[in-house]
Amino acid sequence: MNSAYHLFPAQTRLTRPRQIVLTVLRHDFSHPTAEDIYKDVRKTLPRVSLATIYRNLNFLVKNNLAEEINVPDGPSRFDGHLKDHDHFICHSCKKIYNLPKYPLRKNYLPNKNYKIGGFKLDLFGICATCQNREPCLNHFKNIH
Ligand SMILES: [Zn+2]
Ligand SMILES: [Zn+2]
Repeated sequence: MNSAYHLFPAQTRLTRPRQIVLTVLRHDFSHPTAEDIYKDVRKTLPRVSLATIYRNLNFLVKNNLAEEINVPDGPSRFDGHLKDHDHFICHSCKKIYNLPKYPLRKNYLPNKNYKIGGFKLDLFGICATCQNREPCLNHFKNIH
């Protein structure tokens, strides 16, 4: 029995590829691309197409079962872990690190007419691993 199946109310229609895409996302903590997910899903469904993967990812994102992360100069990444957290995205290796949710002040906005419903913080920079590599230090100088 597919464990992801139990996470949803009966009325949420999950086709087999959709369940498998979701299961892959729930077990992958690297924030994979659609291509990465495609490679993984093919182990279970060898005949699945990349278009099917994209269609199912869009469905999951639309239904708040997964999050799409936009990365500059790279393909979108996907996150199946929805517990509130922010991201640190490395410019160099494109790794995405999970961060604890930023403690945003309630009175952050100067105008009281806005009510914040939620927010998403994506921090960009160079991760510790890449800082230890010479070419990445040059990269860091270039963006300042
Ligand atoms: Zn890095
Ligand atoms: Zn994440």
